[in-house]
Amino acid sequence: MDVLRKLEILADAAKYDASCASSGTELRDSRDGKGLGSTAPGMGICHSYAPDGRCISLLKVLLTNACNYDCLYCVNRASSNVPRARFTVDEVVKLTIDFYRRNSIEGLFLSSGIIRSPDYTMEQVVRVARTLREEHHFRGYIHLKTIPEACETLLAQAGRYADRLSINIEMPLETSLARLAPDKDQRTIRRTMGRLRLKLDEAREATKEAKKSITKVRPPRFAPAGQSTQMIVGADTASDRTILDTSANLYGAYRLKRAARCRRRPRRCCASTGSTRPTG
Ligand code: SF4
Repeated sequence: MDVLRKLEILADAAKYDASCASSGTELRDSRDGKGLGSTAPGMGICHSYAPDGRCISLLKVLLTNACNYDCLYCVNRASSNVPRARFTVDEVVKLTIDFYRRNSIEGLFLSSGIIRSPDYTMEQVVRVARTLREEHHFRGYIHLKTIPEACETLLAQAGRYADRLSINIEMPLETSLARLAPDKDQRTIRRTMGRLRLKLDEAREATKEAKKSITKVRPPRFAPAGQSTQMIVGADTASDRTILDTSANLYGAYRLKRAARCRRRPRRCCASTGSTRPTG
């Protein structure tokens, strides 16, 4: 399968994670060679808010839409009959660099279905970010979806290379997640979000100390744009009050930059912990 076809499948699989693409107007493009410009999102490119409030373009793709899990709300679930594709690490790196050089994007939003094991998948996701940062000295924005079951070493590495990490809480109610996504466990998700918060707090403290010190040596970075999450609403019986209370609790407990809520979509895709909705 050539890279363009993979991009078609894996960008489509990630499209419901879009944050703020052009909306409210008719879709027009100039792909037939006539005209100029487009109001339709380009394949794999979405808009998202950077931590400083700018709206930036990101290459938003899944590493693969194959998945061992069978979350009922996800088009990429194991039992779904959709075309599957998988990028190699080098293919995602090359696409990111190529799009960046053409000035089409300012960063990468990478997620993945879970293949082989959470650690294996997370290692592949981290390897993309590490290759971009260390081999290509990529200074653009990187947002990685994080797999809650992945080991702590991989989470630490993800934070070293990414600007933002996110783990999807998925459902407002733990019982709903157990029913709709039997392979997932909200306690594991929350535990990993708690670990990320601790690492973010440690990094913030270390930065403050470094500023006060004489040497001003910068401490190792850890996801300077913080962590975010996403919750699907409408797939269970959670009331508006429950949804708002859960969101408030998430912001407070994990010091999130954003807890995005999205309506249940029959063709929603996700990644790592499940899905992903942009957040920049
Ligand atoms: S939500 Fe994520 S983990 Fe669940 S089936 Fe979809 S891709 Fe796999």
